[in-house]
Amino acid sequence: MVRELESRQRRRLVSLLGGTALALSPLKKAFAGTTLEQFRMVQQDNLTLHFDLDQRVSDASLFTLNNPDRLVIDLPNTVLSPSLEAQTFSTGAVEGIRFGVRDQHMLRVVVDLRRPASPSFKFVTRQQGQRLLIDLGVKGNPALLDYAARVNESSPLRDVIVAIDAGHGGKDPGAIGQRKTQEKKITLAVARRLYKRLERQPGITPIMIRNKDVYVALRQRIRIARDRNADLFVSVHADAFKRKAAKGSSVYALSLKGASSEAAQWLADKENETDALFGDLVLDGMTKDLKQTLLDLAQNSTIEASLEVGGDVLNELKNIGSVHKPNVETANFAVLKSPDIPSVLVETAFISNLQEERKLNSPAYQEKLASAIQKGVGQYLRRRAPEGTKLYAAYRQRG
Ligand SMILES: [Zn+2]
Repeated sequence: MVRELESRQRRRLVSLLGGTALALSPLKKAFAGTTLEQFRMVQQDNLTLHFDLDQRVSDASLFTLNNPDRLVIDLPNTVLSPSLEAQTFSTGAVEGIRFGVRDQHMLRVVVDLRRPASPSFKFVTRQQGQRLLIDLGVKGNPALLDYAARVNESSPLRDVIVAIDAGHGGKDPGAIGQRKTQEKKITLAVARRLYKRLERQPGITPIMIRNKDVYVALRQRIRIARDRNADLFVSVHADAFKRKAAKGSSVYALSLKGASSEAAQWLADKENETDALFGDLVLDGMTKDLKQTLLDLAQNSTIEASLEVGGDVLNELKNIGSVHKPNVETANFAVLKSPDIPSVLVETAFISNLQEERKLNSPAYQEKLASAIQKGVGQYLRRRAPEGTKLYAAYRQRG
């Protein structure tokens, strides 16, 4: 009997939300074990509930029940952070929130209501994971400003994660200099120096895409960065050109043209269907045109950020040597194609230029290059550190 009531209610809610472009839809999860890290109530036009999940891919179902009024949210393969517990509120539309486990791995969240709600919901991006945002469709809770402030104080701030990609490796030596220097060795040496520098910087956690002489496919490099929740991706290379005099550093971001065809490629590739979920964009059940448009939008804003961090890095490179081109260039490099992680490719110098080949082999110059990239990334993060990070909090405090 209860079951029947539930399913009827569920149907009603689903049809209520049927017209929403970003409505939830079940997605197959590649791995288990999402954590519900944080719950918050926020007074906007209506009362909204924020549920912060530590992974981007999630699957949820919602329904309302009455007598008494309540909203139920089921999150499969999800566990509750130990820091979260049931709460009650003495006044306002929300009376309390409770958590329980159902069918072993399903986290059930029950929001007890003092009056009927007509909720709508969507996912929004967090740098690490996703936020399920529910608009209750009712006006507020006087008590909750207080509550939100308390929760905020206790919420841990995280490091910015910078993925460092040493170009080439293993069977792929990259470009080869006149003195037979292999690009893959230079890129790894500079990447390691950059890693050491960033590691010493509070608020930043660097990761190495490769830390030895191994071959890593380009797609795999992007995937590693994603899996490690990178906020930024920096690929280190050394240039080569048949004209031996060509010299100087260059910085690249993805070209819009490459991005657009990439989005089309993602959509064309059935194997990528479950990956076609970027941040708040739940793409299941949309028309192909709409998917393409949303992907383009996500990629475009990522390219803007990439151009910005690229500009900062290029400015620092100008301080240590000559640059090949005065501005950040754009190109269709596969390794830059993360739709939601700002990514740049640094051509440190021309390995095909005898003088620059010598410099690239010098530990002192490798250190200078690493320092310039580090400073450029630092400049960018000063303005654009993602919300929820220690750097964001630190820079905002100082203004
Ligand atoms: Zn290269």
